[in-house]
Amino acid sequence: MVTINENYLKLKAGYLFPEIARRVKGFAESNPDAPIIKLGIGDVTEPLPEACRTAMIKAVEEMGDRATFKGYGPEQGYAWLREAIASQDFQGRGCQIDASEIFVSDGGKCDTGNILDIFGKDNTIAVTDPVYPVYVDTNVMAGNTGPVNDRGEYGGLFYLPITADNNFTATIPDRRVDLIYLCFPNNPTGATASKADLKAWVDYARANGSVILFDAAYEAFITDPELPHSIYEIEGARECAIEFRSFSKNAGFTGTRCAYTVVPKSLKSKTADGTEVTLHQLWNRRQSTKFNGVSYIVQRGAEAVYSPEGQSQIQGLIKFYLENAQIIRQKLSDAGLTVYGGVHAPYIWVKTPQGLSSWDFFDKLLNLCYVVGTPGSGFGAAGEGYFRISAFNSRQNVEEAMSRITAQFN
Ligand code: PLP
Repeated sequence: MVTINENYLKLKAGYLFPEIARRVKGFAESNPDAPIIKLGIGDVTEPLPEACRTAMIKAVEEMGDRATFKGYGPEQGYAWLREAIASQDFQGRGCQIDASEIFVSDGGKCDTGNILDIFGKDNTIAVTDPVYPVYVDTNVMAGNTGPVNDRGEYGGLFYLPITADNNFTATIPDRRVDLIYLCFPNNPTGATASKADLKAWVDYARANGSVILFDAAYEAFITDPELPHSIYEIEGARECAIEFRSFSKNAGFTGTRCAYTVVPKSLKSKTADGTEVTLHQLWNRRQSTKFNGVSYIVQRGAEAVYSPEGQSQIQGLIKFYLENAQIIRQKLSDAGLTVYGGVHAPYIWVKTPQGLSSWDFFDKLLNLCYVVGTPGSGFGAAGEGYFRISAFNSRQNVEEAMSRITAQFN
């Protein structure tokens, strides 16, 4: 008999989004005329920027000509894209990141999961609570956890609560951990971290020989010039951090697929016998073996993000979603609800009113306002009593959803 990876059986049965879908479907069947507005899933709604489309159309034409046709590309991404990324996302912001330290991929989701391939099995792992569920589930799959308890917490993971009390930036642990997942601007809370917050993490990681896995998928939503976009804006981060970025949320690539991971060459660890290895060499080996690169057409689309037209078009997209977020924040506050996030992030984290549980508030919004959001408890035990609303939608839907909520809660 074939044996299976039994760690998969420890996973909570894909509870959150299937359960939302089940409840919405049940409601829609009993109320076929209810005009449901979905502000739940963090998928973008606005079309791809013209600069990206134009570049991809040109690339398709090149693929149709023997002289310009491209077969397999470099597994790490084409040099012109890696150079554009290094110079505009990093060097232009004062971060010493070289093009050779950028690995282009087809998603931040796969990169944050796949990165575990290069780490050993006996690391202690810290995640925030609430958290982007991929970090937790991929550790469960890799066998890095014990079973799940009644609160939905896995044995072996070290949970760092992020709450209003710590301004939704996790408190530095009072013990040593090896791997630390941080995500700023944060999904689901919409919180940001200051340079001082990140410096404290970098100092901790360097003092303890830990590695920070920094997810900056939402960095483009930062508008405050004081806030860091990259962990490499902090001195010493090149020695202790890997950063994940994505074109999904800034340039609407959720369906087009392009992202990248930064692994500085100065990030080192040691084997059991004390030999020094760079994580860059391991990730390079991993990608060259298990990945065959992102399509040429898509990489040309991503490159266009860095053109002057691309930059101005993505600024337009970000501004649009941030205005949605501002409308949501304002209307929910007017309705007497306590809101967090949504200033430098597309997510608004709402305190559920009247002591309702996350799921009770979900049902209330669905039944009374025909609005779908995401129960905070689905992101972790400390998310109970909160609710995530996404600003990724049309202006019309956002305004309509907010006027329904205001009418109900005022
Ligand atoms: N990281 C975070 C925090 C996210 O919220 C998401 C998507 O929602 C991703 C990564 C995944 O991005 P990608 O579309 O590049 O896989």
